[in-house]
Amino acid sequence: MKEFSVTPLGTVSPIPTMECNCPGFLVKCGEEKILLDCGSGVSKYFSRPEDLKNLRIILSHLHLDHFSDLGNFVYASYVYHNLGMLDSKVKVFYPYHHIVNDNIIEIYSKENNYMEFDYYTNLNEFNFGNMKISFLRNVHDVVAFAIKIIAYNSSLVYTSDTGYNSDLVKFCSGVDLLISESSLLKEHGLVKGHMYAWEAGKLAKETRVKKLMLTHFWPIINKKLYVKEAKEYFQDTIAAEEGKKFILRKGGF
Ligand SMILES: [Zn+2]
Repeated sequence: MKEFSVTPLGTVSPIPTMECNCPGFLVKCGEEKILLDCGSGVSKYFSRPEDLKNLRIILSHLHLDHFSDLGNFVYASYVYHNLGMLDSKVKVFYPYHHIVNDNIIEIYSKENNYMEFDYYTNLNEFNFGNMKISFLRNVHDVVAFAIKIIAYNSSLVYTSDTGYNSDLVKFCSGVDLLISESSLLKEHGLVKGHMYAWEAGKLAKETRVKKLMLTHFWPIINKKLYVKEAKEYFQDTIAAEEGKKFILRKGGF
């Protein structure tokens, strides 16, 4: 059995700070790696050619805070392939509706022989190594998806950006780790298309997850405030911490 883990690489939005990057989570199961979103700053965790081996990038949606570092992966792949330092291709999955001319994915994928691009819908299910990946359409102002990954009977959901909704409750039900956006605090007033920290707590409680990890913080607000608000509903809540690995399933025989 291989180790199944997730490491937060980016936790703030809309712009990185000196300490924190825009959204990104690296999920690993043995040799296989899935990067969920690649916001600004996330690519600095992939500075060696071997870091791009066995890597798939899944973009939850095409808001820039969630994919602005994709160009760094495209250029690094191009250079490493030309120098003979990398022979495998990074595969990128993106939401289906963006197949139109002259969007940025189209530009990146054009005459690109060193990466693969493909789209997905909420009907798709992928397997990558021992990981099974599925999707749920979110409530957001562009087409966006929550992503579930299951390996060895352990599971996580990364909500990405979404308003609270009943489909999400069904989708997250019983997972071991819920990585939920908590863009807002009560004091921010009424905003649609994102969740409040207390709603993330409510979602965790309703779905009986084992652990709630909050993310998508406003850069200048102390993360402890989000955790405090979520804990009104769900005690086992932590704030995502960049570079700190969370092990869902230990490796072994
Ligand atoms: Zn968004």
